[in-house]
Amino acid sequence: MSQLSVVFGGSRGIGKAVAMLLAQRGHRVIVVSRNHEAAQTTADSLAGTNHMALSCDVSNEQEVQKTFETIQKTCGSVGYLVNAAGINKDALLLRSKSEDMVSVLHTNLLGSIFTCRAALRSMLTKGGAIVNIGSVVGLKGNAGQCVYSASKAGLEGFTCSLAKEVASRNVRVNLVAPGFIRTDMTAGVREEEAVRRIPLGRFGEPEDVAQAALFLLESPYITGEVLLVDGGLQLAM
Ligand code: NDP
Repeated sequence: MSQLSVVFGGSRGIGKAVAMLLAQRGHRVIVVSRNHEAAQTTADSLAGTNHMALSCDVSNEQEVQKTFETIQKTCGSVGYLVNAAGINKDALLLRSKSEDMVSVLHTNLLGSIFTCRAALRSMLTKGGAIVNIGSVVGLKGNAGQCVYSASKAGLEGFTCSLAKEVASRNVRVNLVAPGFIRTDMTAGVREEEAVRRIPLGRFGEPEDVAQAALFLLESPYITGEVLLVDGGLQLAM
């Protein structure tokens, strides 16, 4: 059945690949990011019609609430929610700036909590599925990514707890934990060096993560699951 699907961070990278796959599967997609023009360009490029773009900063709860009010008014109830909005400000902890730490935690962790809370208002009566995008470093840790890892580890705990809270209302909540994926976020990573640690011997593509996200969205008997999409990287960490 076609679902109204909202993808935060859908303008590029992993979120864009998820939006593309959802549209190919016949779902109506709302692409959300801070940059409206980029979100609109992505929405216009999706298969099918009726897709929409909205601008919202997930770290601002009022903006998130307004976004869901707009969606409810103009499109109806959300069936699928994907939280792919995220940032990294990597640095050793002692060199991390306080404002960077706050913005990483606000965007990656609180942002997804805000969108889930707003989406639940209609999902609790009609059912639905949520996929949060975590990271392998949330499970394994990584030097230079203390705060980013904390945001993703927090997201994992949040996902499992929320899955327990809402399962009886037919709302499923799962997490995909990617390794190195080729997007703007990893543009500065020295690929040759990183690939040596990946058993499958390559960076993942955004489509690799999108496939896993779609699987979790569409699997009616999976909730509270953490699915690594990392080419086996966790085996070497
Ligand atoms: P990109 O930088 O390519 O894309 C990030 C997306 O998030 C963009 O659409 C961006 O749009 C949006 N975004 C960022 N901040 C906000 C905000 N405050 N409010 C709304 N939207 C926002 O990143 P990736 O696609 O690589 O990452 C997607 C997710 O996957 C992130 O959560 C990331 O942490 C996670 N991840 C990525 C990995 C990788 O190797 N690439 C590995 C593991 C996890 P805009 O700037 O216009 O707002």
